[in-house]
Amino acid sequence: MPLVTSKEMFAKAYDGGYAVGAFNVNNMEIVQGITEAAGELKSPVILQVSKGARAYANHTYLVKLVEAAVELNPEIPIALHLDHGDTFELCKSCIDGGFTSVMIDASSKSFEDNIALTRQVVEYAHDHGVVVEAELGTLAGVEDEVSVEAGKESYTHPDEVEEFVTRTGCDSLAIAIGTSHGAYKFTPAQCTRNADGVLVPPPLRFDVLKECIKRLPGFPIVLHGSSSVPQEFVKMVNTYGGHMPDAIGIPEDQLREAAKLAVCKINIDSDIRLAMTGNIRKYFAEHPDHFDPRQYLKPARQAVKDMVAHKILYVLGSDGKA
Ligand SMILES: [Zn+2]
Repeated sequence: MPLVTSKEMFAKAYDGGYAVGAFNVNNMEIVQGITEAAGELKSPVILQVSKGARAYANHTYLVKLVEAAVELNPEIPIALHLDHGDTFELCKSCIDGGFTSVMIDASSKSFEDNIALTRQVVEYAHDHGVVVEAELGTLAGVEDEVSVEAGKESYTHPDEVEEFVTRTGCDSLAIAIGTSHGAYKFTPAQCTRNADGVLVPPPLRFDVLKECIKRLPGFPIVLHGSSSVPQEFVKMVNTYGGHMPDAIGIPEDQLREAAKLAVCKINIDSDIRLAMTGNIRKYFAEHPDHFDPRQYLKPARQAVKDMVAHKILYVLGSDGKA
């Protein structure tokens, strides 16, 4: 099947009590790792491109890589989504350039300005058969162009979601319930430590999520900043010459709970970066004489595939839902 929007994916995910993974793509190995896992597990999948990814790899390269993945995985629905579009022009450029979904993130603006810009993108997108994700509330953390200091984040106000969705006409809504961008989602001061000295983050605000669901029955909710920062990868990075002390993510069991509710899209980027970097560092340490990029990108790609398969099976619950 050709590239699809996320509309039908979300309707099925909402009713089925699972979520669709939205994984960030930046190069060929990442596209291959994600779609090979989704293809084998018969899972729908969203490939998302940030402004930074477009600047790095070029819009055309990314679209063509995704088109190749679509051709090679005809049995699963794949959507191509702009992650954190910050202007109308950027969203328009992606809509005109073959994306089936865009996010307009005007969450740093006032409520009224967020509505106005989101509405403008929705009108253009819907005229072109493309769906729109918007955001209310702000997440802490750093991801490409988006950076919010810890302590400056703000949870979504459930009182606002109904008016926002009605007035903008957006197709899905990203909310802030305590997830965070990057590999350092919480400062040690925000956490407790377990017996092994590993940080334990504060729990997600399921009360906020449930209030939002009550105000928006049947409407798909999106969680950003939902990597789990698996400690096996952090350990691998640190064992083979890296330095990522106290890297920490969102526990997978909490994401699984959210996926059973109205959360239909869960964004994962840092875990891809960690899986690749850990494995490349390990490869370099174990094979100091190798210099063929294929040699170290192969295990990196396999690590992405294994990680995505794990998410589909044990976090998202989207296997067999294609
Ligand atoms: Zn995000």
